[in-house]
Amino acid sequence: MIAAGFDTELDRLRGLERDGGSFLIQLETRERERTGIANLKVGYNRVHGYYIEVSRLHSERVPAEYHRRQTLKSVERYITEELKQFEDQVLRARDLAAARERTLYEALLDRVCDELPALQACAAAVAEIDVLAAFAERTVALDLVRPEFDDEAGIDITEGRHPVVEQIQSRPFIPNDVRLSDGVRMLVITGPNMGGKSTFMRQVALIVLLAHMGSFVPARSAKIGPVDRIFTRIGAGDDVAGGRSTFMVEMTETANILNNATDRSLVIVDEIGRGTSTYDGLALAWACAAHLATQNRAFTLFATHFFELTALSECLGNTANVHLSAVEHGERIVFLHAVRPGPADRSYGLHVAQLAGLPRPVIEMAAQRLQEMETGTMHHVPPPPPQHDLFREPEPALELLRETDPDSLSPREALELLYRLRGLIAE
Ligand code: ADP
Repeated sequence: MIAAGFDTELDRLRGLERDGGSFLIQLETRERERTGIANLKVGYNRVHGYYIEVSRLHSERVPAEYHRRQTLKSVERYITEELKQFEDQVLRARDLAAARERTLYEALLDRVCDELPALQACAAAVAEIDVLAAFAERTVALDLVRPEFDDEAGIDITEGRHPVVEQIQSRPFIPNDVRLSDGVRMLVITGPNMGGKSTFMRQVALIVLLAHMGSFVPARSAKIGPVDRIFTRIGAGDDVAGGRSTFMVEMTETANILNNATDRSLVIVDEIGRGTSTYDGLALAWACAAHLATQNRAFTLFATHFFELTALSECLGNTANVHLSAVEHGERIVFLHAVRPGPADRSYGLHVAQLAGLPRPVIEMAAQRLQEMETGTMHHVPPPPPQHDLFREPEPALELLRETDPDSLSPREALELLYRLRGLIAE
């Protein structure tokens, strides 16, 4: 705790132990000469303390004033009066040094306590300067701009950038705009994998977060209305150790968003409903998106591969489509990373799979299956499995209700009926 040079007494006590090293070397040399035992060694262990070690072969040469301390397989360990004295002195010095250090430390704490408010104020000021200086340095280094805050609801970013992706990749970063207002609260984002959907959504969330921290932001301009929280549903991590499958994690996160997002929240959804069957997933994704747009009325960026969701904009007044553009170049696909209005024209899944290195025959077979499915000529495809209807009304309870004439019931009978109905539902 206490550095050398602060307290002379502590330094002296520590010195005794340290200087012991040269005493031990001297002792070893001297005893080797005196006894003629060339491999005699002086050592230390925590249980037995200091010792002189001599191999059994030379036991008869050991002087009479050596006292046996420990016997090992091929060596004997001894102690002498001189070494014992040294040991006591070192151990005492060690204890004294520790005690001295504790005393000094407690005295330091007392001094700190006297000055506590000033020290805390100073630490807080240094911390604040540290953060502000970092913001300023980043602003210049990364070409950030001052965001504007607005009382009116909305997020209006021109040429926003992702501050990390922009820095780590060697290719130029394509800036993108985002305009959310009371009129357009949800953007349904489509486009190929690798098109830049995640990057786009994350950059919007990062810009809002940076602005609220008091930092400048990576954009040409940014006007940000009141935002109470940022919710995200991204990534498909599971929590197997915690007993939750990927889909369960996805649904738990979604439930949290639907139950808590307000019309001042920013919600980022990177896919919902991919962890279950197509029909389940699509139905859930649709319902979640519709709920977010109409009930939560949160500002929402909703990326999806369910092309069907692009029809939401026709049903809901405050939802619009955007897509990440890509063009086909021969057999290849070129990602433009630019956000454009309207839905994507196709999904490019096979192209991306090819880029990723799926074997050629697999791609060819998939292309053929896709064509069959698109033209409705696919054979041997099982129909979607029937969904177990969780929400079916319990029939016996309905029957009972139908048979009941409420006007003929006494209050007591009505109450009994109510209990019977509850019982039927519970079954
Ligand atoms: P998606 O979510 O659509 O699959 P990502 O957002 O993960 O796509 O983007 C894939 C990669 O494309 C990123 O890792 C990045 O290298 C590049 N990228 C994304 N957006 C841009 C952009 N605006 N400008 C340049 N490169 C980008």
